[in-house]
Order: sequence, then C-alpha cells, then structure tokens
Amino acid sequence: MNVPWRRAISILAVLAVTLLLGCSNPFVDGEPERIAGLRVTGDVERPTEIDTLDPEKWDIEEITRGERRITSISLAALIEEAGPLTEGFQLALVGHDGRSAVIPGSHLVDSRIGWSKEHAWEAINPRYPISSNIKDLRTLIIIAEDPDAYQTINVIRSEENLTRHTVGSLLLAGYDVRPSHVGASAQVEDGVRLEATIYERERVVDVERLVDREAFDAMLVVGRGGEMHDCDPHGRFVLEDASLAYHDDDGTEIPAVKGLILDPPARKNTDVYEEAVGWLRGDTPALVVLVDGLGWHQYLHMTAHGRMPFLASREGLVQALAVYPSITPVNFAAAVTGALPPDSGIITRNTRVPEVPTIFQWAEDRGLRSALVMGPISPIEFGITPTLVTRADADGCEDSAIFERSMALIEDEYDLLFVHFKSPDTVGHAYGAFAEETLATIDTVDGYLSRLHAAWDGRMVVFSDHGMKTMDDGTGEHGMLLYDDMYVPQWSFDGGATSP
Ligand SMILES: [Zn+2]
Repeated sequence: MNVPWRRAISILAVLAVTLLLGCSNPFVDGEPERIAGLRVTGDVERPTEIDTLDPEKWDIEEITRGERRITSISLAALIEEAGPLTEGFQLALVGHDGRSAVIPGSHLVDSRIGWSKEHAWEAINPRYPISSNIKDLRTLIIIAEDPDAYQTINVIRSEENLTRHTVGSLLLAGYDVRPSHVGASAQVEDGVRLEATIYERERVVDVERLVDREAFDAMLVVGRGGEMHDCDPHGRFVLEDASLAYHDDDGTEIPAVKGLILDPPARKNTDVYEEAVGWLRGDTPALVVLVDGLGWHQYLHMTAHGRMPFLASREGLVQALAVYPSITPVNFAAAVTGALPPDSGIITRNTRVPEVPTIFQWAEDRGLRSALVMGPISPIEFGITPTLVTRADADGCEDSAIFERSMALIEDEYDLLFVHFKSPDTVGHAYGAFAEETLATIDTVDGYLSRLHAAWDGRMVVFSDHGMKTMDDGTGEHGMLLYDDMYVPQWSFDGGATSP
C-alpha cells in the first residue's frame, strides 16, 4: 500500500476512534494538537522533540490495550529522526517520575511509542520485558556503543589519553538540576514595586564525574569549535540535549565541549606568531619551519633511539599543544595569525581565508620582506604574493626541492622566511607514526634543518602542526583530541650564522 493511502487510513482511523469514544485526541479539525513533549537526546546528531502526532510526518497506528486506545508511532522512526551517532546503541526510556528502563537498541523493529490521555507517552516494546513499557515518558536517551574519539569528550594529559565520555552516558549517569540566574525585572503597581527574578534550570555535571579532581592542578577546556579556555574554579559543565556546555562567571561559554586537557603545556601553536613577531620588532630576522605531522611521542621515540641528531641537540625545546582540530589548515592558521580557530576563522578543512591578518601581512605593513616556501597544495590563503610554491623533484618528494629553494632564498636576506616540510605527514599517513619509513623521513628533514640553521643569520622557530597516530590497519591519522594528535615539540634557537 502506498504511503498517502496509509496516511489517509490512519487519519480516518483516528477520526473514527474519536467519534466512537467521544474523547479528544491529538487532532482537532485535522490540525495536530500540541501535546506534552517527548525528547530524544544523548548521542544523536539532532536532538528531537515530538509534541504533535502529525500524520503527514509519522506512520500512525491505533493500538488497543484492554480498554485503552493508544495512538502510536514507530519508536525506530522517532530515533532515526534524531540520527544516532553510532550504529549500535543503548536506549534509556525515562519517565516523568524518573523511573527508567535501559534496553539494547538492536531489536526495536516492533516497538512503538504511544500517546493516550491516561498515560501520556508510553513505550510499547513487544520484544522486551514488560517492565520496559515505561509510562508518562519524558525523555529517550541514546547511549552510543563503541563511539570513536571524534564522537566523544576526551580527557587527555601529557603522554596519556585518560578517559572518554559521551553525552548519552553523562545524561544516563545523572546530574544536579540547579537554578541559574537569568535576570530580574520590576514594575510599580499602585506605588508598590513588584519584582520578578528569572531562573533557568540547568543540568550541571560535577567535574568529579568527568575526571578525578586529584589528578590535576590546572585544566584546559577545549570546544568543538576550537575554543580553548582555562577551567575556572567557578566554571560549570552543563548538559544540553546532545552536547556538554561549559560556562564560567566571566561570561565564557563553550557550547559543545570536545575535551579536557589536564595540566596543559604553557605553549600552543598560536605562540609561534608572537615569538616571530617579537624578533621582527627587534630587527632580528625570523626563520619559521613547520615540520608537518611530528608528534611529541614521535620526538621521544626518535631521540630515545639516537635519531634526529640536529633537533635532538638543540636547546630551547618545549612541549606544546596543537590547537583543535589537530589538522594542518587549522594549526597553520594558528601559527601565522596567533589566533585560536574561533578568531582566525579557520576551523575546518573547508575554510581557507583567515579573518585576521597573517604574519606576512603584518610584515608587509611594516615594509619587511617575507617569503613562504611550500608544496603546491596550499592549506589556506596567506595574504602574501607570491607564495613560493615548489613542485616535486624526480623522486616525487617535494621537501628536497623546498629545502633547495629555501637555501637559495636565505641568500636574498628576507626578514621573515617561512618553510613548510610536508613529507613526515605524507609518509606518516601511509605507514604509521613509528614505521621506519616515517622515522627516516623525519631524519631527512632533520638534515635539512641542520643546513638551514648553519646558513641562517637570525632566530629560528621549529614547530609541528599536529601529531600522528597509528590506526589498527597500520596507516597514520590525526585530527582528534588525543595525546598523540595534540602534543607536539617546539624549538626556538639562534641561527648558526648569527653574528655574536
Ligand atoms: Zn595529515
């Protein structure tokens, strides 16, 4: 039977029931009547609230339970509307009185969600124990099974991924409902001033539920949009329907927390900008080198095995944080603008034009000469003409050509020379973080750095845009809020040709 016919029959069935029973039902003159809302929340793309039974939208069926007539829709269809993040999930059915049932989301094919005057929303689960038929339902919470690190709220610190949470699991585990002051207004009536104070009720998650409070002194809260804020002692984590928000008393608001970084390094990739600008202000030429995809864990591994001899012998090494998401365009933008993603405007691979000036534009405004040497695929626009692009050499490796070009440019006495070596990332993706191919590529770039250093008269900063981790299939990946992706080395030192 085609859908319009089924809908027409559904409407007729509802009208017939109305006439027979004489009771009011969710439709008045064909218009869906607003009824108490039922929300689908947790690990979903689009938290959803159903507060009408619209036959245009839902495949409505009338069910009889003893004396009761229930208007019902498919539970699976309602959940599909919200878009669960993962294929496998648990479903918590939560009633008005807090009574709830948690069932696997795998056998919902016959399950219905019904509406009746007597019990409001109720679950009808023929394949599950009858105790799962919660009445006066208010919320359905989807709890993801086997979510990946892109889908979770991750707690990390130096050299460790500590734990992960999902919004669904936090909603299920419970929270405190607390009033949050919204504002007050007053009006004078017969000479008497009457005031109304407005509150909202927030679902507050104690920090203890996210991380062991003893485990850290300071904490950085990172948002899905690349926000980074030091966690304030008065800051609070508030559960929304499909995200965890962070608010503090200074008005900081992160709508969707991506993760927490415990005892974070003082330095981030944004600091590359300030450092180079500081040198240029003091008439010291700056050579900035981006080694693409060199994680802190790879640095530790290389130096523990006597590799990467040039960088290993440098002083001025610090552990630094990539900005989130830990991908090249976002971190390249952070380093050339000094701005976090919400301010630089470079938040994904699809954004290309920074909303704030780059260091190249800053230099040009002051009459300083700058050059950028990189491969043919530019991750963002830099506001510099020309960007010096170098093609691959005979081996297909762009970095040797980029190195040669950079050595030649040093002769031209630029104030700011910015060099991007891409090969550790390319090879790391193909072979994984610790494969010999990847380590050998990092060694090659280390050799280029040694020779650039010997020729440079000025200061140098060497940094990496993000780390690299090995996936189950042996290839490399980055982009997540994980230790392997977010922690990177950063060096700052004098060029070897610097006059004393
Ligand atoms: Zn990459």
